[in-house]
Amino acid sequence: MPGKKLETLAGVIDAKMNRQLKLYLDICARCAICRDACHQYVTTQDVRYLPAYRAELIRRIYKKYFTKTGQFVPSLYEGRDPDENLLEELYDVMYACTGCRRCMYYCPYSIDTTWIQSVGKAMLLAAGKGSEMLTQLADAAIDKGKNIDLYKDIMRDVLKTAEKEMQDKVGDKEAHFPYDKEGANVLYAALAGTHSILPAAIIFHMAKEDWTLSMFEAANYGYFLGDAAKAKEIAGRIIDEAKKLKVKEVVVSECGHAHRVFKFFYEMWAKEKLPFKVSSILDKVSEYITDGRISVDPGKIDIPVTYHDPCQVGRNYGLFEEPRAVVKEICSDFREMTPNRAKNWCCGGGGGLVAEPALEEFRKTTGKLKVDQIRDTGAKMVVSPCENCRLQLDTLNEHYKMDIEITSMIDLVVRALKT
Ligand code: SF4
Ligand code: SF4
Repeated sequence: MPGKKLETLAGVIDAKMNRQLKLYLDICARCAICRDACHQYVTTQDVRYLPAYRAELIRRIYKKYFTKTGQFVPSLYEGRDPDENLLEELYDVMYACTGCRRCMYYCPYSIDTTWIQSVGKAMLLAAGKGSEMLTQLADAAIDKGKNIDLYKDIMRDVLKTAEKEMQDKVGDKEAHFPYDKEGANVLYAALAGTHSILPAAIIFHMAKEDWTLSMFEAANYGYFLGDAAKAKEIAGRIIDEAKKLKVKEVVVSECGHAHRVFKFFYEMWAKEKLPFKVSSILDKVSEYITDGRISVDPGKIDIPVTYHDPCQVGRNYGLFEEPRAVVKEICSDFREMTPNRAKNWCCGGGGGLVAEPALEEFRKTTGKLKVDQIRDTGAKMVVSPCENCRLQLDTLNEHYKMDIEITSMIDLVVRALKT
């Protein structure tokens, strides 16, 4: 690889450099505490999946190009060029990470490996070597945003059956899915498919919420790809829609990463303060039950049930007790996994891994800790409020013949809803 190109790739680190990143790159003590925190290393024993090793790939380029010792004697200080070999290694480990940040939770210095890895993904993109699958999915979402008028009628047509199901459930033939409603309290950003729209619509209707349905899916493959510009554009479609409709709140479906993008990243990328509140549908469900706007049948489900904390909902957002309170109200035999809450094991499907067929076998292997955790509870049903987690749990259920039911929180609530 020509020297100029190497320097350009190393320059990606420079462009991303801030105090936080410098600290992360400087202070790793190689204590290896993160080793036993990563489900991928624990299940594969492959040194490439050590959190510290993944970060070390970037650290070595940093040493060679940005430290005096590394510049003068790179071999002594383990400096490396971002050459083809290193880029290949980067691809294998960066796009395999689920972004669960369990390593960060256990690191004595709270080094955010995923932050360092975002530099690796940016470097791969700069070299034209980003994930093809994630690129296609991100580009399709952006393309849809540019041609939304073509999709609106199709979407309304597709949702007619779901609308009828909602009318039957709530006993109101006049109940409709609201679209493009200016001045609504809530803009609901769902996922592709009626499974994330219908139960939410039933809950909104029963809570007498003034809501409207977004024309766009909340999922953000630009974020998984590591392309902040694309991620911003994908989230921006819903942000612009919310501004245009002048809603008071954007409520994001059960999708851990999408909610995090709106809640924590968009304002930073766009350098603007959003004129509305951002919540998760979990926040709303909990609020409606607490305020008595909806009520559920206590103990409606009597089979053993456990709750999987999605990493982006629990560890990385801090929502632990509210969803548990809802599950415990509805399920009379609730069983906690061990460990749980912030220490919960990642299911192995986050970070865009469920969208990448080439990683299916890897997901089956690295999800084994989650399988053991669920089996240890004896639960017959797992509730998990994240689409990625549920898709991964479906794969694990089939592969390991677990014979369990996997459900979303909003589906569980609708099953127990008093109408
Ligand atoms: S974020 Fe999760 S998958 Fe990625 S290195 Fe850390 S523990 Fe492993
Ligand atoms: S736990 Fe933190 S300090 Fe220790 S090796 Fe891992 S990243 Fe480095």
